[in-house]
Order: sequence, then structure tokens, then C-alpha cells
Amino acid sequence: MFETPQKLWSGAPAWSARAGAVTTTFLTSGISADVVIVGAGITGALLASALSEAGLEVVIIDQRPPLQGSIRASTALLQYDLDQPLLKLTAQIGCDSAVQAWQRSRLALDSLYGRINHLGIECDLRHRPSLLLAGNLLSAAEMDDEVRLRRAAGLYCSLLSSEALSREFEFRHTAAIHCQGNFTADPILLTLGFLAHAQSLGAQIVAPEKVVEVVPGNRVLVKTSSFDVSCRYVVYATGYHVDPELLPENSSLVGTYVMVTKPQPERLWRHESLIAEASSPYFYARTTSDGRIMCGGEDEIWHGKDHCEAKLSAKTKVLEEKLSQLFPQADATAETSWCGAFGNSVTGLPTIGPIPGRQNCYGVFAFGGNGITFAAMAADLITARLTGVTCPNDSLFGYTIRR
Ligand SMILES: Cc1cc2nc3c(=O)[nH]c(=O)nc-3n(C[C@H](O)[C@H](O)[C@H](O)COP(=O)(O)OP(=O)(O)OC[C@H]3O[C@@H](n4cnc5c(N)ncnc54)[C@H](O)[C@@H]3O)c2cc1C
Repeated sequence: MFETPQKLWSGAPAWSARAGAVTTTFLTSGISADVVIVGAGITGALLASALSEAGLEVVIIDQRPPLQGSIRASTALLQYDLDQPLLKLTAQIGCDSAVQAWQRSRLALDSLYGRINHLGIECDLRHRPSLLLAGNLLSAAEMDDEVRLRRAAGLYCSLLSSEALSREFEFRHTAAIHCQGNFTADPILLTLGFLAHAQSLGAQIVAPEKVVEVVPGNRVLVKTSSFDVSCRYVVYATGYHVDPELLPENSSLVGTYVMVTKPQPERLWRHESLIAEASSPYFYARTTSDGRIMCGGEDEIWHGKDHCEAKLSAKTKVLEEKLSQLFPQADATAETSWCGAFGNSVTGLPTIGPIPGRQNCYGVFAFGGNGITFAAMAADLITARLTGVTCPNDSLFGYTIRR
């Protein structure tokens, strides 16, 4: 049974809210626009920026004040490597599609990096290498095949033995895949930057105002309790607030947990790589610009916010223990922690595209650990669609509604 969360996170996320930094519009009567985007998180922000740049008149509507959705809870590892190793995705959807999905993810991250630089968005963007540690989802033995497959797809990476890992990265583990080309960022500054860019091109942000009904058609009518917007297209960028009728096939919600240590710049691991363990339950870690360690995982089926909150303290302890085992030099004590809803898909791929049976309605469900990379991918794909450009990878992420 799918339960739509009312509140997406609990606890004390480390990113400051900065909601006042966004100017919102107050509407009481109907207007028209080319595109209405429902949701002002990172997905809505990237879409609004790209669509406005393409010359479309955009209105973003959010039921909350800006930046209060799951972007507040995000750990913002900007990675192209997908949750599902290429080897495993190949077994699920075939080699051609799996390779295309991985390559498209890489291109989406490059495109995001290009946009951030081009627009001069200051969001604490830092280049970081990644280490995928062997685990129960990808063993040390399977990592050799994974590396060979990725290299064949043009995605350079290398296999590190236990000795190389400890010598070059100061980690004790059986094996890891090392790759370059990923980043960390401050997710709030990132979102603010793209919202500001969209606004500078005329996009309006209306918040707080809930969209209560969408009537598809040749022109779509988007209704709130105060006003209607008549538009050519609506795009749902509602994150993990999915209307159960629109939930894509093979997707589900989990509860996930994050903790952050106090600053300890002198004790961080070499190169401050992004760390992920190919395991269930999941574990990952990054560093922050002020020298903290942020780590998370311990996902389990979503049973609502209260359940997540009740487990936060115990889950924080598990994260502290895992961090301490992996990296004994660090002070693994949590200074703050939080939990949140998180969307998963069976393939680890997002759903992006027209919603079946709803004329001119589009959905972006950037589920999986690469939500921000997928949001950037969605901005490229949806902008192409709405401006009449044929996109070669469109069908890879197409929409099938869960029955
Ligand atoms: C703990 C955690 C860690 C994560 N770590 C990473 C990571 O390291 N890397 C990564 O790439 N991704 C990560 N993600 C995922 C990434 O942060 C998400 O993909 C992203 O935050 C979702 O952004 P969004 O804009 O789609 O959703 P949101 O930020 O939730 O925004 C959606 C907005 O839609 C609004 N809305 C919903 N329904 C309506 C309605 N009917 N009317 C009006 N408004 C509505 C909501 O109020 C909300 O503000 C993480 C997520 C979590 C929770």
C-alpha cells in the first residue's frame, strides 16, 4: 500500500533553510502560462530554469514555503554512478538500455555542472572521486566484471584491491571501484540558484498554495483553492509527494536516515572521496565544506513519519558504528541527525515523461539515490519534449503507471 507522506523529513537537517531568500508571488485570480510546474524543489527549479531559458512562460506552485520539501534532507552527492551497478542493470533491462541509462546519467551530471558554471551559481560545488565498496549487492569478485563493462561503455573507472584502497585512500575494505567526475554541493544553494535564474527570466513562484486538481486537455487547467491557471502543459515535480494514482510502476517509498559529525577537517580521509557501500542495508558518506562527515542509509520500508522519527535515535547509533568501523580515525559522534521519505525504483532509474491518458501532463519521479542528477536529466528531456525536439533516450525513462 502506498502512503503519500504529509511531511517529508523529521529531525534537524544540517542545511539552513534560507526560505526568505525566495521572492514569491501572491495570486487571487486566474492567469495563463505556457507551463505550470507543481513543486519548487530542485526538480522544479531545474525545470523552471531550463524551460524559461527556452522561452516558455513558467509558473511554479508549491504547497509549502520554498525549500521545505525533501531537498532540505538531501545529502547532495552529485553522482552519475547509478544505484544499480551496470552488471545488474544489464541483467534487468538488457545491455543496450543499461549502457544508455548509465551514459545518459553521466551526461546529465556533465550538463548540470555546465549549467552551474555557466550561470555562476555559488553552491559549494566540489569535485570528488567516488569509491564504491564491495558488499552484499556487488561482491569483490563481481567488481572486476563491473569495471570491464563500464570501461566498454566509455565510463572509465578502476578496481582497487584491499591493499591499494588502504594505501591510497586509507580505508580498510576488501575491494572498491574508484571513479572520477562526481561532486558534492549545498542542495539549498543549488536550488536557490536555479530558482533565481528562472525568476530572472520571468518565472513566477506561487507559494504556499496547494494544487488541488489538474484537468488535462488541449489546454490544461491547474486548480488551487484560490485561483486557476490555464496552461499548455503541467509538469509534476512533487518529489516523494506522489498522488497514488500517478505512482510509476515498480516504485516504492522508504524511510532513510542521515547523521552529521562536528567539524574535524584534520581527521577526514584522503581526497574526501564519496563513499558508498554496495550493500543492503545501504551506507554512504561524504564530507562537507566545513570539514564534517555526513553519512546515511539504513533504509527500510516507509511506515510514515512517526515510525521514522521513533527510530531516529537507534538508527543514528548504527550509522555512528558503521562510520567508526570504516574510518576509525574519525570522531563518529553525531552532532545532528534526521530522517526522511525517499523514493526507490526497482531498476534505480527515474520516470520522466508524458503521463499516460492525461493530455499535456508530464511527470518527473526522480527516484533513487541520484535524485539530483535525475532532476537535471528531466530538465533536459522535458524541455526537449515541450519545445518539439526529438530526444533519443526518451523511451528509457518512460512512464508506466502502477496498477
Ligand atoms: C535523506 C536524503 C538524502 C538524499 N541524498 C541524495 C544524494 O546524495 N544525491 C542525490 O542526487 N539525491 C539525493 N536525495 C534525493 C534528492 O534530494 C531528491 O531527489 C530531491 O530532493 C527531490 O527533489 P524534488 O524537487 O523532486 O522534491 P521536493 O524537494 O520534495 O519538492 C517537491 C515539492 O512539491 C511540493 N508539492 C507536492 N504536492 C504538491 C501539490 N499538490 N501542490 C503544490 N505543491 C506540491 C512539495 O511541497 C515540495 O516542496 C536524497 C533525498 C533524501 C531524502
